[in-house]
Amino acid sequence: MNYTIATIASHSCLQILKGAKDEGFATLAISTKKTATFYHQYEFIDEVAELDSYADTLAYTQTLDKKKTIIIPHGSFVAYLGSESDRKTHLKYFGNKKILEIEANRHQQHEWLEKTGVRMPKIFTSAEKIDRPVIVKSYGAKGGTGYFIAANKKELDIKLAKAKLSENTYIIQEYIIGVPAYIQFFASLIRKRVEILGADRRYESNVDGLGRLPVSFQREISLEPSYTVIGNFPIVLRESLLPQFQKIGENIVKVSKKVAPPQGLYGPFCLETIITENQRIYAIEISCRIVAGTNAFISGSPYSDLLFGEPLSMGRRIAREIKEAIELNRLRKILN
Ligand code: AMP
Ligand code: AMP
Repeated sequence: MNYTIATIASHSCLQILKGAKDEGFATLAISTKKTATFYHQYEFIDEVAELDSYADTLAYTQTLDKKKTIIIPHGSFVAYLGSESDRKTHLKYFGNKKILEIEANRHQQHEWLEKTGVRMPKIFTSAEKIDRPVIVKSYGAKGGTGYFIAANKKELDIKLAKAKLSENTYIIQEYIIGVPAYIQFFASLIRKRVEILGADRRYESNVDGLGRLPVSFQREISLEPSYTVIGNFPIVLRESLLPQFQKIGENIVKVSKKVAPPQGLYGPFCLETIITENQRIYAIEISCRIVAGTNAFISGSPYSDLLFGEPLSMGRRIAREIKEAIELNRLRKILN
């Protein structure tokens, strides 16, 4: 096929390049000298670039063949290169850059999701009106560090005073009591459909460790929960939730064509939800690229098996879409 699929060597790189190789592409991992040896051991990676630092990625990609290299973005792009990185690469890039700008802006993301009709936690514009447990999220917070929860207005006032956050740098959101579930979708422009390919939950430090401590100890050390991701657990959803999620996913894609015309959202995306005991689904956040929770399904998920009858990871699904686009002479339609 003559095309190389490339990505940064972290996050979901192994899955993306394994999937690309399985679909017949050449593969390139853009690595640092420190981690290159690790990536060299995998036979499905044809080439490992060894940079001094990930910050050199954009300069390095300038040296690659623009016509023949396709870059697949994932979480490390923003983490290592900044939110502008998507716009700067000169390589063919799988995904809609306009939708990523909307995703990166909390306000615009909220407006978009609201238009789809999906249920979301209430946002309080002022601390005065708090009548239920809330979670305070500061804008710059990465992976939930810097979030805090408050059971009521009194606790919120004390914690806000202590945190010394400046105005307009945080939001106060209703705290939903339920269980988190991350739903992994793929929106195909080629097959014109939205596929549910998996679901997971995160294993977060320290919040998932707190429950292992006796209450007396918890009281003694008065710890706040933090949410650093360490890994992910696969979930199979109660089946009656699936048609609901299918509809939510389809609405998100439909409305995205209005907020980022003409293509809207396509490729992998993930909806972070909390599901209550009444099976009410609340959307918390959307990620418009491959999420690392898909790594739980490198050999396929129950849902990809049902749709495709073969072990198909999200990484391989991306490569399949690109392959089908090449065969139909529509590659330009799915690259930016
Ligand atoms: P890393 O390359 O592991 O440092 O991750 C790059 C970015 O992706 C960071 O912002 C991480 O927080 C995020 N990330 C990595 N792995 C996961 C995961 N399993 N779930 C959610 N986010 C992740
Ligand atoms: P996030 O950074 O949005 O992935 O959130 C970090 C953690 O906070 C996750 O474990 C979420 O499940 C939890 N979380 C975020 N917002 C809410 C909310 N409104 N209600 C309950 N839990 C939340």
